[in-house]
Amino acid sequence: TPTPATGTPSAVPEPADRPLRGRLLVLAGPSGVGKSSVVAGLREALPELLFSVSATTRPARPEEVDGRDYHFVDRAGFDALIERGELLEWAEVHGGLQRSGTPREPVEQALDAGRPVLVEVDLQGARSVKQMLSEAVTVFVAPPSMEELARRLTDRGTDTPEQRQRRLRTAIEEMSARDEFDVVIVNDDLQAVIGRLVALAVDRDAV
Ligand code: 5GP
Repeated sequence: TPTPATGTPSAVPEPADRPLRGRLLVLAGPSGVGKSSVVAGLREALPELLFSVSATTRPARPEEVDGRDYHFVDRAGFDALIERGELLEWAEVHGGLQRSGTPREPVEQALDAGRPVLVEVDLQGARSVKQMLSEAVTVFVAPPSMEELARRLTDRGTDTPEQRQRRLRTAIEEMSARDEFDVVIVNDDLQAVIGRLVALAVDRDAV
């Protein structure tokens, strides 16, 4: 039996003893495509999944809960996160009106512990995460049609007409980038979409 040169066993376990790193799913797709229902269903179907809670400078919507949907911070608080290097990525969304970013630590910890992680970001965010962590699987959720997407966007009662216009513009822009993603899933059947994502999160051969 070969003796280690130092004579002391290493505290770092051999690769075979360590859990396999979890799967990192990056979910993107135009606003209004139904990502929140997909995410809610996926969290229910896969309790071990870590859903990454982003930090954002935008105000909370009535139904949103701080710490569950987002960490709501002011601009100075957000800048401090950037300065301390605590964000895996961040972006200015909706024409620079607000900043949102992914806290790094919870994602890394869960992946190291072998848990699957879901990060829901915009197009720039998906590109940045893939660049930082090349093992990430990027998933684009597409609407059945542009007409359907426009209808869903105008049905959302909480937005002003300007916000709706901006969302639609961003949506058209995002749709044209779908080919950059590892996987494209058309959201025409919620349960099917959730099933596909569960497979991607737990099955290494699913991509
Ligand atoms: P909303 O403000 O409607 O929740 O989200 C607006 C956009 O910001 C969506 O496209 C959403 O995916 C994106 N977004 C949310 N959190 C993050 C984040 O942490 N990083 C990036 N890059 N985009 C995010």
